[in-house]
Amino acid sequence: MSRTWKPADIKRASDHLKITPEAFRKKWLYKDETGDWLNTNTPCQFLGKDNKCKIYHIRPYDCKGFPHIHHTDFLVGREVNIPNMTSCPAVYHVIENMYKIVVEKDQEVLDKANHLHLKTHF
Ligand code: SF4
Repeated sequence: MSRTWKPADIKRASDHLKITPEAFRKKWLYKDETGDWLNTNTPCQFLGKDNKCKIYHIRPYDCKGFPHIHHTDFLVGREVNIPNMTSCPAVYHVIENMYKIVVEKDQEVLDKANHLHLKTHF
């Protein structure tokens, strides 16, 4: 999974590394078809051998927000959430519990509809 680097993230990281934003983009990023800047390297170039982020205090907004379950459009962003389920147990549990709630609500609606249907036909 690749992180999106917003202009402010690139500026903050390039300032930290004392290079220009252009040099930062050229060294580590590419622009995808939607115009987002993404890491060229996987795993991320800032992941240390100790498995810790080497720029944690200035990491991109996208990293700070992971696993993104606080977004109001959480369910709409399935293309993000489903891949995150494979790498983050919290995402899996949230989606699993939301699914259970939806199934329960659907069953309540179906039960009410069936009850009304029976009342109107008998
Ligand atoms: S938290 Fe750090 S190491 Fe992990 S993807 Fe973000 S910048 Fe890279």
